[in-house]
Amino acid sequence: MGSESIPTEQWAQVVEKSGGPVVYKKIPVPKPGPDEVLINIKYSGVCHTDLHAMMGDWPLPTKLPLVGGHEGAGVVVARGELVKDIEIGDYAGIKWLNGSCMDCYYCRQADEPLCPEPSLSGYTVDGSFQQYAIGKANHVARIPKECDLEAISPILCAGITVYKAIKESGVRPGQYLTIVGAGGGLGSMALQYAKAMGIHTIAIDGGEEKGKMCKEIGASEYVDFTKSKNVVQDVKNATADQLGPHAVIVLAVSEGPFQQASEYVRSRGTIVCVGLPANAYLKAPVFDTVTRMINIKGSYVGNRQDSAEAIEFFRRGLIKAPYKTVGLSQLQDVYHLMEKGQIAGRYVVDTSK
Ligand code: NAD
Ligand code: ZN
Ligand code: ZN
Repeated sequence: MGSESIPTEQWAQVVEKSGGPVVYKKIPVPKPGPDEVLINIKYSGVCHTDLHAMMGDWPLPTKLPLVGGHEGAGVVVARGELVKDIEIGDYAGIKWLNGSCMDCYYCRQADEPLCPEPSLSGYTVDGSFQQYAIGKANHVARIPKECDLEAISPILCAGITVYKAIKESGVRPGQYLTIVGAGGGLGSMALQYAKAMGIHTIAIDGGEEKGKMCKEIGASEYVDFTKSKNVVQDVKNATADQLGPHAVIVLAVSEGPFQQASEYVRSRGTIVCVGLPANAYLKAPVFDTVTRMINIKGSYVGNRQDSAEAIEFFRRGLIKAPYKTVGLSQLQDVYHLMEKGQIAGRYVVDTSK
């Protein structure tokens, strides 16, 4: 099993009560079970989901105390006796789906995000805001050795999720995709995946800094929802025939944009809901939904194959989404910026600081 160099204690950011804040402290290093691996996490992206988890936003309780984080990239340092296909020293990643039963109706057909008994990293089991994290061997992301662990960490949730959502939207090369919340962590990834697939993107977010970034990483157009007098018309005008985008991916963390999307999506178009604002509901006029044949659907992370495909886009050098790196000890500062909507792209934490 393990090597002598694994310490018994490690630094971690711990949510001790719902609502936060996180507490930076030393905790024991966990030991992997027979079907698990222990990963020495080097870097972890900070997803807005981690903030929802700390705040207790969702109708699903978290474990407490909780180590958050589900974009953790690192090196395998120990494995249980049943694990055969991952070696000590391999690169691997902790993603949102830490494990699933592998035996239910959904798992049997590789819809494992829908498993009724999932373990969720940084939510129902401890995640990647610690130096050593555990994952089920059949679910941890396989990361090729040539990949940079810092840059790949946000792929492990943001990248996989938007890659899947773009596929679920049915949008094709040459068509238009509107990305709502394009300046955030998932949004900036979505712009890069869509660009790699030959899809035109219309980015919606707020502020000049995000607008500049969206344009730099591939948005064909940027609509600033804080300044636009008519977002619906601006989005439609951004398509060559002014009929609106073929698909919309809604990543925003408030309810309004989910309702607005049905006003500008092209007839027969698809709205994919991905963002998870607290206490939000979908509302769309039945008349328009019927007579314009609008599809409204959800998309939730990705399965193991989606994960491998999303990582392969990155390995090929097609995905260069912007990120800033700070020490794990500064996680609470990242949450403050996130709450205010002031993060362009993603923050990554370095677990050694
Ligand atoms: P983020 O904070 O990095 O980005 C959200 C962006 O939305 C920000 O740039 C913000 O300015 C923008 N925004 C807010 N209101 C807006 C509006 N009215 N119009 C346009 N843009 C607006 O967050 P993130 O990490 O990208 O996560 C986004 C959401 O997706 C969160 O709710 C998160 O929990 C959820 N999520 C879902 C899945 C899934 O599988 N469905 C996976 C990961 C994250
Ligand atoms: Zn996430
Ligand atoms: Zn299952």
